[in-house]
Amino acid sequence: MQEAQTKVKELMQRIQHPRIGAMLALSEEVGELAKEVLEKEIYEETKDKKNIEGEAADVLISLLELANAYDIDLSEALKSRLETLKPRVKKWEKMAGILEKKRRQMD
Ligand SMILES: [Mg+2]
Repeated sequence: MQEAQTKVKELMQRIQHPRIGAMLALSEEVGELAKEVLEKEIYEETKDKKNIEGEAADVLISLLELANAYDIDLSEALKSRLETLKPRVKKWEKMAGILEKKRRQMD
């Protein structure tokens, strides 16, 4: 992750968005990813996952740019967040039956 963040920093060095622009660019890329998922899963306009793959990469690149704009070490932030997630996942696993029932109600 750190290597990717450095690569994005180097690549965008001269054209980096201002912080708010980086956030908007990330939102734009998430929208593009959602569109590709809809086209595959709902509208069945595409059979493969190539476009989803490309847009997922764009989302990550935009996220790394945003992290750079705020001088955030995303590897460290991820490591820290994953630790806080562990006990929550255990709690959710205990609720698996309830969540499955809710999921079926929503479909
Ligand atoms: Mg894109």
